Amino acid sequence: MRFIGRIEYFGSLIYDTQRREYIPIDQDGTNIILNIKPNIDIDNLYYKYFSHRFSYLNFKSFIQLIQSIEIIDNNYSSNVEILSNENLEFYLNNRFISSPLKFHIALTYECLLKCKHCFSKSGKKTNEELNQELSTQKILDFLDELKNNGIFYVSFGGGEPFLKKEFIEILKKADQNKMNISISTSLIFPDIEKFLQENINIQEFKISIEAVNAKEYNNIRGKNIFETLKKNLLLINEYKKYNKCYVRFSFVLNKYNYTYLPNFLSFAEQFNANGITFYPIYNVGRAEEYPELLLSNQEIEKIVRIISNMKERTKIDVEFFGIPMKFGKNGLYESFGCGCAKTTAYLSALGDILPSGMFLKYKDKFSLGNIKEKTLKEIWKENAKKEINKIDQDIKCQNCTYITECRGGCIFRSFDKYQKLGYKDPICNIQ
Ligand code: SF4
Ligand code: SF4
Repeated sequence: MRFIGRIEYFGSLIYDTQRREYIPIDQDGTNIILNIKPNIDIDNLYYKYFSHRFSYLNFKSFIQLIQSIEIIDNNYSSNVEILSNENLEFYLNNRFISSPLKFHIALTYECLLKCKHCFSKSGKKTNEELNQELSTQKILDFLDELKNNGIFYVSFGGGEPFLKKEFIEILKKADQNKMNISISTSLIFPDIEKFLQENINIQEFKISIEAVNAKEYNNIRGKNIFETLKKNLLLINEYKKYNKCYVRFSFVLNKYNYTYLPNFLSFAEQFNANGITFYPIYNVGRAEEYPELLLSNQEIEKIVRIISNMKERTKIDVEFFGIPMKFGKNGLYESFGCGCAKTTAYLSALGDILPSGMFLKYKDKFSLGNIKEKTLKEIWKENAKKEINKIDQDIKCQNCTYITECRGGCIFRSFDKYQKLGYKDPICNIQ
């Protein structure tokens, strides 16, 4: 079937395997989809189940809408396979999402670079370290587990994912599973030409850059490779001409590189990027060795202003990620706030599932479980009961206009500062 559906407490999530995206549907829409049958008398259906809920006009409009996107066809046959879930009652009762929407998968912590801001402290690894990482077979099995749980957005990273042996095989599996595939890469790896000749549907390349002149770039990356980056960006540009994919540049902003923000935009325009994501540097991984790179709250406010101006003068989709909603943009669903351990999760190269990669710093406290020992279904059900998903909001956030979307901002940053959950994001200046 073209569409795969998951029942959720807010209705359902229907994944379109052709367009490779989720379509969120509310409870009324979900009930219509569940009740529709081939050649059904549609008026009867309305008066029997829905006339007390909404008008006939709204009902018909919704039917036309789902026909236009082919969720049902003109004879009212459904094109949706609804996944079964033995824990459904539990998730509905707890108003908790039955699985994340997206998994960030760290394939390896091997990397040819040694960046100062690297949250996973990636770099050259010993054979012994590499042997502890998940095998390719385990990752292939995990991709099937994701599919069976209705999780279709995957982002492969690391380390440098292209250094994972059999990465092509892993990508092919994700493509076969009709997943929406994003690759986070520095673009610094051998054989890039060979990879680009592979016929795999990649929806997004997320290319980490951090500096756009040789001196700064090489300094932050720890190697003399700025020219290689530019050469490889041209190759990606060529690839994009023949393959439908989105190219996003990412910049982790630190105390020094943020002063070059306008140059980042010119660089992205020069290399035809579709989007730019800026992140504030986090005090994790290798960045802990460089406290002088951390940003103050005043600098973050300044960056927000520069980025807002930037957005007005470019067609490139620019976002500043991981900052309180006062500055951010709405998520897909309200009331989830920070998506970590809810709509998104992170699989470490060693098999631990964490709320996000930042929580590698507190792996022992925040590992939700290891896939070498438990199934994803088991891990996720336990996760729903964990403290990280039970925290009440900081009293300081209660009267904030942005509370519905933001819910207190970044859970990691607040835990990192206070060593307790439930406090307001320390970079938020709203009183
Ligand atoms: S930040 Fe990325 S490119 Fe840099 S060392 Fe870490 S994994 Fe490698
Ligand atoms: S006060 Fe709290 S809810 Fe409001 S923007 Fe700041 S962190 Fe988010």
